[in-house]
Amino acid sequence: MNKSQMTRPEPVGNSLFTVSAPSGAGKSSLIAALLKADPTIKLSISTTTRNPRPDEVDGREYHFTTVDAFKASIDKGEFMEYAIVHGNYYGTSKAKVLEQHDAGNDVMLEIDWQGALQIREIYPETVSIFILPPSIGELEKRLTKRGQDSIETIKYRIAGAALEISHASDFDYVIINNDFDLALRQLGAIIESARLRTRKQAAKNHALFAEFGITI
Ligand code: 5GP
Repeated sequence: MNKSQMTRPEPVGNSLFTVSAPSGAGKSSLIAALLKADPTIKLSISTTTRNPRPDEVDGREYHFTTVDAFKASIDKGEFMEYAIVHGNYYGTSKAKVLEQHDAGNDVMLEIDWQGALQIREIYPETVSIFILPPSIGELEKRLTKRGQDSIETIKYRIAGAALEISHASDFDYVIINNDFDLALRQLGAIIESARLRTRKQAAKNHALFAEFGITI
């Protein structure tokens, strides 16, 4: 078998990104700033069984649901991935992601390491990004300052952070969020380079590649 026979052509030119981090690494703020700067990236809204925080709106941050309803969705195969994080279920809707992806959008999943590994199994071309806080001390400070969760929850999350961080080495990219603007630029650079991969460019610029006789 020659190389061109072995290489599966890309069906589409858009990309799938997963972004993971321990709670308190600043992931959500970074993603919010990225999406503001580049509205062509679509963020998947997960489903969770955890209770909404005071400033959260159903259907905006998450689709909030019950454990029974979540389990029924698992049984129906409605999740692309799901996991138990900090004692609650979280999952990504298969239909919603595929809908965005098939419409030609880049899709970003803000999920934990367990979910990121599941997504990479299904779609090996997924670009996985891990965000690290600059130090454990800074992480604890950020989690305590958040002020929306109980002390128990904070302690539980600090313990969970160590587990999450222990999986950083499984990711394609690591950003250390010490300086927000720098971290945001680095996140943008990863997105940009994923879009410029030869096979993505070929899919997006089919006519130009054909004109130049470039075969992938
Ligand atoms: P939080 O409850 O603080 O918003 O999120 C807790 C953790 O759950 C974070 O690490 C977040 O990335 C993760 N998470 C959110 N949505 C999903 C999801 O759909 N799947 C998985 N596996 N993790 C998720």
